[in-house]
Amino acid sequence: VFISLDGIDGAGKTTHLNAIQTWFTEQNMPFIMTREPGGTPLGEQLRSLLLDPKTQVSNETECLLMFAARQQHLQDVIVPALQQGTHVISDRFTDATFAYQGGGRGLPWEKIAQLEQWVQNGIQPDLTIILDVPLDVSLERIERSREKDRFEQEQSAFFQRVREAYHARVAAHPERYVIINAHREREEVKADVIAAVNRLMQN
Ligand code: ATP
Ligand code: C5P
Ligand code: MG
Repeated sequence: VFISLDGIDGAGKTTHLNAIQTWFTEQNMPFIMTREPGGTPLGEQLRSLLLDPKTQVSNETECLLMFAARQQHLQDVIVPALQQGTHVISDRFTDATFAYQGGGRGLPWEKIAQLEQWVQNGIQPDLTIILDVPLDVSLERIERSREKDRFEQEQSAFFQRVREAYHARVAAHPERYVIINAHREREEVKADVIAAVNRLMQN
């Protein structure tokens, strides 16, 4: 199966990926953990460029670079893994593009959906877990991080639009998503994340 974890900055994606990793290890199921933007040597180079506050890039190019990294990621990592029965767990996937480049930057969702269709050709996560926290929690967790990346320097209105876009994604395709309130104790959030993975794997 293919699982992605998404949500605004500081929601706890990377934290709870560890819980999923532990779960798959305990079940003796083959899996890989990966991330976007990134996941391949080219993708990691694009990630560095995209996150660097010194990079000057248009909204359109930013979106295209996200999909360029994603095409390489699918071709070299995700599709081969799924073909050999290895589960794939990704820290962010295309929902982040709808949320950040769509909601945040204001690019039309129809354009993003066209690129999604071209690059993914029908490949979608079986389950997308959206970790949701109120804006002030996200901003506070960003504030605590040592170095802010290019996106984290945006104003709170940007993250408000990103968060709303994630909610709209869930509303538009409820079957693929689980949205979890991540503004709780880690153990409570983790229990819901693992329950969602369990439900998927029992189907
Ligand atoms: P980013 O989008 O910036 O990569 P993220 O969604 O991966 O963020 P994490 O890095 O997992 O988020 O968590 C952000 C910070 O919040 C970390 O310092 C983490 O320890 C803390 N954190 C995560 N979950 C919780 C929680 N439930 N309660 C309190 N703090 C938390
Ligand atoms: O560590 P994290 O996954 O959060 O780092 C990726 C950064 O890139 C985040 O700050 C996020 O805001 C941004 N991003 C984005 N558009 C995407 C994926 C990530 O703006 N499609
Ligand atoms: Mg993270």
